[in-house]
Amino acid sequence: MPTRFVASGSNARNLQVIEGPEFAFVGRSNVGKSSLVGKLIGAPKLLRTSRTPGRTQMLNLFEARDDFRIVDLPGYGYAKLSKKHRASLQKMIYDFIVERTNLNGVVQLVDIRRTKVSEDDLRLARQVLDNDIPLIVVITKIDLVPKTKRLHHVSQIEKGLGIPSRSAILCSAKTGDGRKELYGRLSEFKA
Ligand code: GDP
Repeated sequence: MPTRFVASGSNARNLQVIEGPEFAFVGRSNVGKSSLVGKLIGAPKLLRTSRTPGRTQMLNLFEARDDFRIVDLPGYGYAKLSKKHRASLQKMIYDFIVERTNLNGVVQLVDIRRTKVSEDDLRLARQVLDNDIPLIVVITKIDLVPKTKRLHHVSQIEKGLGIPSRSAILCSAKTGDGRKELYGRLSEFKA
């Protein structure tokens, strides 16, 4: 089956459910989520990469070729949105994660350049773990940090999020690095 866009929704109840494994992808706006998801499902144009951060505020469900679903959640933490608007987006994301009972895991993306983990990122990671949902952390845009400095950045981020050392997956949508590893990790959670 080819990769395809299935549906949009504004909450867990009005977004179609299709049987089989499903993963939610979350992260701050501009973290590189559309680029990475596009690369992962082999359909880079399916997700607009040049949209205004924060504008796309729906939950978008995609069916990937390899028998799993991805829900692309709105990016959070966009500084140009009002505090109230940011809080309502955060709530939408949180409610979705808690109410979407068919989720096999949440894939949280963080930018390798931000060694100081943001409040938004930390809150989200906690919400996922507190609800006993598998959390898969992906560190994006690794091509933007020289190899010699990557380990330091990665360990700062892992510490900041409170996840085990060396558990994050390092990816670049630009070079394709990490794609296989991410696929492999998702497969572990498909059952
Ligand atoms: P989103 O808001 O999280 O969906 O982020 P986008 O996928 O739209 O990416 C935001 C910006 O980062 C765009 O200018 C992308 O070209 C750039 N970008 C995304 N992934 C990478 C990457 O792996 N490496 C580099 N160098 N740039 C990236």
